[in-house]
Amino acid sequence: MNIADGELMEGVLSSGGYEIVETPEEADVILVNTCAIREHAERRVLGRVAQLNRLKKERPGLVIGVTGCMAQRMGESLLERASYVDLVMGPDGYRSLAGRLEGLTKARAEASGGGFAKNPPSASPASKRLQLAVLELDDTENYEGLELRRRCGVTAWIPIQRGCDHRCTFCIVPYVRGPEKNRTPTDIVIEVRSLAEAGVTEVTLLGQTVNSYRSGGWAFPDLLRAVSKVEGIRRVRFTSPHPNDVTPALIEVMADEPAVCEQLHLPAQSGSNRILKRMVRRYTVEKYLDTVEALRRAIPDIALSTDIIVGFPGETEAEFQETLELMRAVRFDDAFTYKYSLREGTPATRFPAEDFLTDEVAQGRLEMLIDVARHIQGEVNRTELGRVEEVLIEGPAREAGQLRGKTRRHKVVAFAAEGARAGDYVFVELTGTSGATFARRLVEAASPVTTA
Ligand code: SAH
Repeated sequence: MNIADGELMEGVLSSGGYEIVETPEEADVILVNTCAIREHAERRVLGRVAQLNRLKKERPGLVIGVTGCMAQRMGESLLERASYVDLVMGPDGYRSLAGRLEGLTKARAEASGGGFAKNPPSASPASKRLQLAVLELDDTENYEGLELRRRCGVTAWIPIQRGCDHRCTFCIVPYVRGPEKNRTPTDIVIEVRSLAEAGVTEVTLLGQTVNSYRSGGWAFPDLLRAVSKVEGIRRVRFTSPHPNDVTPALIEVMADEPAVCEQLHLPAQSGSNRILKRMVRRYTVEKYLDTVEALRRAIPDIALSTDIIVGFPGETEAEFQETLELMRAVRFDDAFTYKYSLREGTPATRFPAEDFLTDEVAQGRLEMLIDVARHIQGEVNRTELGRVEEVLIEGPAREAGQLRGKTRRHKVVAFAAEGARAGDYVFVELTGTSGATFARRLVEAASPVTTA
């Protein structure tokens, strides 16, 4: 979502006459786009903007902005805490980004009589207005009609939904991104068509609970089918779904439509019914397992990944063990694991103080969970050795001379293939695995794009 928001901001800025440069040293404006999901990420942002302030000392005209969910969450307190930050802008403010920056730059030039003051602008109360906070949440802003400036010509993120109507008790998203706002299917399909015409063959539909999407008479499975049928689109993915909206209709479209990839990220969060209830996830472990079974029945080869939080307030050792049991029962291809992070303003903060676990206990559980998840991932991936699979090449791999791409089941592979380029589909044979990623041998170039 943040990559897509970055592309949206770059689109707004290029239409506003800004040019995107590659390094902070070349820039007149630096925007740090942020996430508020966990405290750890926020702390890193504060470190990063402090670092950027060094550039500002050399070039006082430099504008530093913090955008996204952390900007929304901290608001003006961020401007006070980091006085060298000129702009904070929440996720609903991007449409006006270019204009706001222009206004800010002008005001600063005027205030400093053409040059720039030596002191940071917020040093005196009179110059406080030289810092700008754009924090209004807008229940209708879904950025319809704006063009993203995409970095990659092979695969594209398509935000179809912003905000969230769920109220998972751990989660800050509804408070920093507002309620669910969906784009119209017409707008989305037109965008996918124009991307396909420009050579993009893989799209990923994005939303906080992407499969809760509704617009007019359209539900998510209808949209997924329409996107899958766009000529030239060979792979369709979507993320992240809420398990409750994985309906029979959705599973049917996933199984039927050749373009929909055999892959699903299905956040479980916990393997304990009591904890799930406290999280207000609105499903039980049994229901989650039924969904997994229904998916596997319809799409036997489907690769499943998940999100898990350990150390949620009140989680007992036995309840944590239930999470490990869920991992062993499902055998996920991949898992994103998190230690519960207290987010001010979320309902979970209101649990009694004695429910909150020590960092030591939570860290211990996290490490155990990672061990189990990695072990299972390694086992699953080793069973795939020798398989021949279609890979879409995305670009060069870390290792010189190698290319990197993904299988339909969202597995990362690296391989040497002379003559192949980003955007090509090739068939490769899995020859080895590091546990998480694969080494592969090129078998043959896949057929050119066929119409869906
Ligand atoms: N609905 C979003 C969720 C994004 S956050 C989506 O589109 O995927 C990704 C994951 O972060 C969540 O699924 C959850 O497992 C984790 N997370 C959210 N809030 C958290 C918190 N307060 N502490 C720890 N992990 C959290």
